[in-house]
Amino acid sequence: MDTILKYDLEDPASLWLDPTRHERVLIPAGPPPEQKPVERVKNFRMVFTGYEEKQAVVEATRCIHCPSPEPCILACPLHNHIPSALRAIEQGQYEEAANIFRATSNFPEVCGRLCPQEILCEGSCTVAGYDRAVNIGKLEAFCCDWQRDHSGFPTPSPVSPTGRRVAVVGSGPASLAVAEELTHFGHSVVVYETWPKPGGLLHYGIPSFKLNKDIVMAKITHLESIGVKFICNMRVGREVQVDDLQKQYEAIFLGIGTPVGHAIKLPGDDLKGIYQATEFLVRGNLSLDDLPEKLKGLPELGKSIAVIGGGDTSADCVRTARRLQVQNGLADGNVVDYYRGAEFEMRVREEEHIYAKEEGVHYEFLATPIRFIGDAQGHIRQIEMQRMRSKPPHQPGQRVPSQIRIPIPGSTFTIPADIVVLAIGYGGDPLIPTKTPALKTTKPGLFQVESEATGSTTLGGVYAAGDDVHGAELIVTAIAAGRDAARAMNDYLRAIPTDVNPINGAA
Ligand code: SF4
Repeated sequence: MDTILKYDLEDPASLWLDPTRHERVLIPAGPPPEQKPVERVKNFRMVFTGYEEKQAVVEATRCIHCPSPEPCILACPLHNHIPSALRAIEQGQYEEAANIFRATSNFPEVCGRLCPQEILCEGSCTVAGYDRAVNIGKLEAFCCDWQRDHSGFPTPSPVSPTGRRVAVVGSGPASLAVAEELTHFGHSVVVYETWPKPGGLLHYGIPSFKLNKDIVMAKITHLESIGVKFICNMRVGREVQVDDLQKQYEAIFLGIGTPVGHAIKLPGDDLKGIYQATEFLVRGNLSLDDLPEKLKGLPELGKSIAVIGGGDTSADCVRTARRLQVQNGLADGNVVDYYRGAEFEMRVREEEHIYAKEEGVHYEFLATPIRFIGDAQGHIRQIEMQRMRSKPPHQPGQRVPSQIRIPIPGSTFTIPADIVVLAIGYGGDPLIPTKTPALKTTKPGLFQVESEATGSTTLGGVYAAGDDVHGAELIVTAIAAGRDAARAMNDYLRAIPTDVNPINGAA
């Protein structure tokens, strides 16, 4: 592709002369700055090292400002005003750009890093027809990081307190979006979290090489500064019941996600050295202060680590395992991801899959475990595997439901495995519905709601949204659902007489 000569890419100021659409598509795509694979496996720092201002201005100028309705805005679940924000970056107005993203999103610096942009905003970017799509996600992260570093989170406009109290259960993306929105509406919010630190999935589910914990904690600190209170090490359904919360709060939001790893139910699945993904990830990624007593300390490691699964969580596990091997004298070991489907059927973000391969992870497709084999001490040593085929034979670009993947007769084989990590999906936590029968569910741990636009459950004044309604999904869709639920909760709270507790009727 020809490069433009009219503008000096080393001097972003020259781009502020407002290039034409034709000139914009001629600006070469700038790959986001990243740590090299050989370096990044030695640390847990984020792969994306952040744009410099000059790079961000050039990249933002690649946006051609499509006529309305802009395809990127339609494709973003939060409908972020992307072209306006990119225009602001182009003009060096990074603070303004961040505020544009923050107007529609509670976690732009998180979404910019973790959304599967290739199937959302960037997947619909018109510029992709000429060159690579504009790096919308990384630019979103850039301007919001810039704002946080230079002036902090913006202070919300003052609002009169309503006197209404809300309990938010869980502190993942949907819950924190609800907590922030309801605080902006003037309600007082207390968040209950099971783990020792707030952040839920963002803190305990996402490895630091994808999202630095400092970014999550900065947001928590900001929420505290605007009045949100956090109570940690408190599991609703165990230490405190929904009934108890009803006596203290006018409304309750349930945002507990889908924290329960699916059991694999195979012979030998109770051998030592077999981990569920969550335990392996939190012990591998988090500091001791962040962990409950029983999970403190690194997971056991070995030269042969087998990860079972083909989604984003398995990608997190293989990349964590490889880093732990390299940093603990096992660099000559191997990490293999075994997936029952074909490579194109994986439910993993493309970028993460490429990163994992670059970091030395191996893959074995159309292979599934049928038995775990231990040694005399009851520790995993081998896995008996079964070759699979898809029925009908898989077509490129077509995802085949698992029930029509079938074993190939006589094709079992045995592989060595010192450690096994199971990353075969997550389901809801049935504890709260078990203790609160009035809360109806659609599946174990998934709450029935009147509509996803309101999140109103079968118990008056109790709302739910995000993964604990529709099953494990994207962070950005959880935030969008949380924002919808917060609006419905605000309407509900404002409609009730101020001298009556709407749940228990107490004056
Ligand atoms: Fe793209 Fe996600 Fe940001 Fe929306 S929230 S603009 S989909 S990165």
